[in-house]
Amino acid sequence: MSAILERVDEEVLEAPNYDGEFDAVVVGAGLAGSAAALTMAERDLEVLLIERGSSPGAKNVFGGVLYTPTIRELVDLEDAPLERYIAEKRFSMLSHDDETAISISPGEWRREPHNDSYTVFRGEFDEWFAEQAVEAGATLVTETTVTGLLREGREIVGVETDRPDGEIEAPYVVLAEGANSLVGEGANLKATESRENVAVAAKEVLEFPHGENVIENRFRLFGDAGVSYHYFGEGAVGEAFGGGFIYTNGDTVSVGVAYRLEDAAVNEQPPEETLNLFKSHPRVAPLLRDARTVEYSAKTIPEGGAESVPDLAHDGAVIVGDAAGLVLNNGVHLEGTNMAVESGYHAGRVIADANARGRTDADALEAYGRALEESFVVKNLERYAWLQETVEEDRELLFETMPTAFADAGAEYFRMDREPKAEHANRAKRAVIDALGGWRGLAKLALRYRKVVT
Ligand SMILES: Cc1cc2nc3c(=O)[nH]c(=O)nc-3n(C[C@H](O)[C@H](O)[C@H](O)COP(=O)(O)OP(=O)(O)OC[C@H]3O[C@@H](n4cnc5c(N)ncnc54)[C@H](O)[C@@H]3O)c2cc1C
Repeated sequence: MSAILERVDEEVLEAPNYDGEFDAVVVGAGLAGSAAALTMAERDLEVLLIERGSSPGAKNVFGGVLYTPTIRELVDLEDAPLERYIAEKRFSMLSHDDETAISISPGEWRREPHNDSYTVFRGEFDEWFAEQAVEAGATLVTETTVTGLLREGREIVGVETDRPDGEIEAPYVVLAEGANSLVGEGANLKATESRENVAVAAKEVLEFPHGENVIENRFRLFGDAGVSYHYFGEGAVGEAFGGGFIYTNGDTVSVGVAYRLEDAAVNEQPPEETLNLFKSHPRVAPLLRDARTVEYSAKTIPEGGAESVPDLAHDGAVIVGDAAGLVLNNGVHLEGTNMAVESGYHAGRVIADANARGRTDADALEAYGRALEESFVVKNLERYAWLQETVEEDRELLFETMPTAFADAGAEYFRMDREPKAEHANRAKRAVIDALGGWRGLAKLALRYRKVVT
């Protein structure tokens, strides 16, 4: 725990009554919460940032790649604890024992600012980011859980915590508690997500105890370059709707699976088992050979998209980040970090404006929702709103038939025997066309998914 956190924590234990001292209380020192706290503190609001973990990020489970276009505008990332920049993105279809992959590695990504994509450990990064909010003037308390909201009529006027005499009044509350938003749900500010709109994720951090430069050699990297590998198909997560991932950190890799909670229940497919199956795939296992697990974690990811975003502004409160369902998780993109920071920033900015006008009502805070609508956050969620449902409809085709068909086509096209190549090419083409339902099926599919690229 840093000196700043320790000091503040002790202060709170000794003097828990903060009533009237703070303009705003932020629930959760994740990316969204710290972005909001930082933004408000920089605008001279007295901000209390409350985190249930022993330090910010201590309880955070994450793939993951931090996307930095907004955070880079808020803080200087020069000293931030970043692991590697992403130099290659790879998408693989896995059947039981085949892989068909596409790799993207533009030269531009090897140059600053590296497409604003870096692997991080949230335990380190969130603590650093919260310290930036503290340096801007926010007060951080850790090991404190917000258990409910204080109300006067419709108005939210503060929070209850698990500390003795732990009620804290403040004109503004920012709910930044992440996907498992018990406070918001308990206060009826948002509905509990249905199983279809939630993914379960299991992740391990693996280290390679033997040999030098194992990560660089295995993933073909130099210096601080890293990779993000994404896998789908039944070889990745069995019959579930979802996929697997591998990200390279400095000296370790993060390996995980994320798939619909509904499937975990219906197919009796527990996360740990699914992750082990993914790790043992013949195209994944060699990347992880001789690795030792140093950390295991599991968490949920909201993936209801634009339709499940709750009302964001209430009298005296706003909801930000994962708590507001602001995650784009569609198989092509898994982006929540950028949305968390963007939403925290707009929430903080709007609260500071409302405070200057002496307003706490939802009408005044609505400007936050409007700012998000004008930003990439809502635009991206809306753009891909159709994708989840369409993939669900084509699930068997995409996750089972296609990975096998493409692998068969590849094997056929490059088959080495004494037949003329035209025969192989013809059979390869037929393997794909037949699997996709003929030319008509292929045309329909192209039409259905054109918006992914157009
Ligand atoms: C396995 C996995 C992989 C992912 N990979 C990626 C990726 O590669 N790239 C990407 O952009 N996104 C990824 N995401 C999504 C991303 O992690 C989230 O979108 C992002 O962390 C949301 O930030 P947040 O601040 O809203 O919530 P969180 O990061 O969840 O932070 C919430 C904070 O609130 C605290 N808290 C909760 N309840 C209380 C309470 N009652 N009182 C006090 N404190 C409380 C928590 O301890 C936590 O610190 C991934 C998610 C998962 C689960």
